[in-house]
Amino acid sequence: MKELKGIGVSPGIAIGKVFVLHSGESFNLPKRPVGPEQISNEIARFEDALTRTRNEILGIRRKLSDQIGRESSDIFTAHLLILEDRTLIEDVIEVIKNEKVGAEYAFAAVLQRYFQAFSQINDEYLRERISDIRDVGKRLLGNLCGEEKKRLEEFKGKVIIASHDLSPSDTASLDKNKVIAFMTEIGGPTSHTAILGRSLEIPAIVGVEKIIGELQNDDTIIVDGTHGIVILNPDQATIDKFTFQEDRFLQLTGELDKLRELPAETLDGKRIVLAANIEFHHEVPSVLSHGGEGVGLYRTEYFYMNRATLPTEQEQYEAYRKVAESMNPRPVIIRTLDLGGDKFASTLEIPHEMNPYLGWRAIRFCLTRKDIFKTQLRAILRASAHGNLKIMYPMIASVQEVLAAREILNEAKAELRNEKLPFAENIPVGAMIEIPSAALASDVLAKEVDFFSLGTNDLIQYVLAIDRMNEKIAYLYEPTHPAIIRLIDLVVRNGHARDIWVGSCGEMSSDPAIAILLVGLGIDEISASPVVLPKIKKAIRSIHYKDAQEMALKALSFQTGKEVQAFLDSKLKHICRELTDE
Ligand code: PEP
Ligand code: MG
Repeated sequence: MKELKGIGVSPGIAIGKVFVLHSGESFNLPKRPVGPEQISNEIARFEDALTRTRNEILGIRRKLSDQIGRESSDIFTAHLLILEDRTLIEDVIEVIKNEKVGAEYAFAAVLQRYFQAFSQINDEYLRERISDIRDVGKRLLGNLCGEEKKRLEEFKGKVIIASHDLSPSDTASLDKNKVIAFMTEIGGPTSHTAILGRSLEIPAIVGVEKIIGELQNDDTIIVDGTHGIVILNPDQATIDKFTFQEDRFLQLTGELDKLRELPAETLDGKRIVLAANIEFHHEVPSVLSHGGEGVGLYRTEYFYMNRATLPTEQEQYEAYRKVAESMNPRPVIIRTLDLGGDKFASTLEIPHEMNPYLGWRAIRFCLTRKDIFKTQLRAILRASAHGNLKIMYPMIASVQEVLAAREILNEAKAELRNEKLPFAENIPVGAMIEIPSAALASDVLAKEVDFFSLGTNDLIQYVLAIDRMNEKIAYLYEPTHPAIIRLIDLVVRNGHARDIWVGSCGEMSSDPAIAILLVGLGIDEISASPVVLPKIKKAIRSIHYKDAQEMALKALSFQTGKEVQAFLDSKLKHICRELTDE
């Protein structure tokens, strides 16, 4: 039995068999023993992956050579030479045969040996070849591991997925009937993979360092997503203890869900709109069962992922219409395409960038790819005839972007009028406040939009210069940092001065202590993953508004995020002990 710690990102406990899904990003793979009769099959798999990788590289080299000339494509010639290296190939085959292991483990183990040997060579040129070998190695491993997803599909029974990394698009395609929990070696608390764990309502942990090397398929493990704990090969007493905790978790969740029909209102009657964040239209029942009064953030980018062609206007219209109708008359805020950062869609051919979080993404992408943007706006407008829809733009950095987007929206409206297609003429339009410049100049922006929604996941990342994806610096990712709460205070005041409402749709409000702080700062709407809504509602219903305001004032006077968090936690314990007892 062994216990490992990570960052718990989706609550609950799962006990079951593990399925290791290799992403091809890590060379630290578990040994997968194979029977003597499977050895020739493993060798064939390896050779097949060599051929596929070779063809891929030839294709890239050809494309590059056409576009930017022969010289730049020479690097891929070096990659091809590595793939044709007989010693390497024979070494891998030897390991498969002698150790009776799967091809991916054998290949990764041989590469590890090469890295070791190369790093000791006293020649800079040769040492640098390590990165070429690593690149080719990842590509080949990706090809070998791609088959694993197929094996997962064929796998009978329920599994807990363990992977070095899971991309948001991989996570989005997990089948909830089969996968009861997942964990990854990398990733931060607000990475989109983590957020999708909450949407799937299965326990999830990210940042469990070096766990893959410790696991074999079919090992029994426990994943405690509430506390970020993984237990490998637990004994019966530990299984019993966690089964008991799981029952308690389900009981508490059931109790809180009973608040479903009650408003998110403080003891003295201050009403907060409590809405939900969704990624897919089929999440609406979950929003309603957890008491969501609307959808505060519909992340539409998943529409564009895991597919070969762009979604059509009609297809988008039908999905948005479904959400609008099933939530009606409750409001639904549709956020326009926010690709980039950790979310990619091969259909859009966004080039690889050095700093994707600061790159050509979200509204910046949409304002240059007007065709794609207008298609989406037309679909949203058409769906607005069937419910209470609002439009929200992501990653707004300046007022010019709002004005440019408005121009395209007006064009879309004019087209629909001409085509005699109905839509809500005065559909409200809001801006996400998630870039520091937007927060600081929110007085200017407030004149041009109907509402603000604070995207604190990105706001924290940009204000504190902390990559939200990186588990190594996750301890610095502080929602209660004085800079963050002062900025939120500023945005709320600037919004209210112009009579527009201000919401929050980042993950920070899923901590009920922080939700109370947001209420005290004057936030009008809180939107979060459906599963966390009951907890937030319970916290709001346990406090007087004037006490929340006093708490916020006090919080603004502290010098560090830790002091603020400790202060809020102790208050919550006082106000609503059951929320801190989990
Ligand atoms: C945010 O940045 O806080 C947000 C809600 O958007 P996303 O997590 O999709 O970037
Ligand atoms: Mg964001």
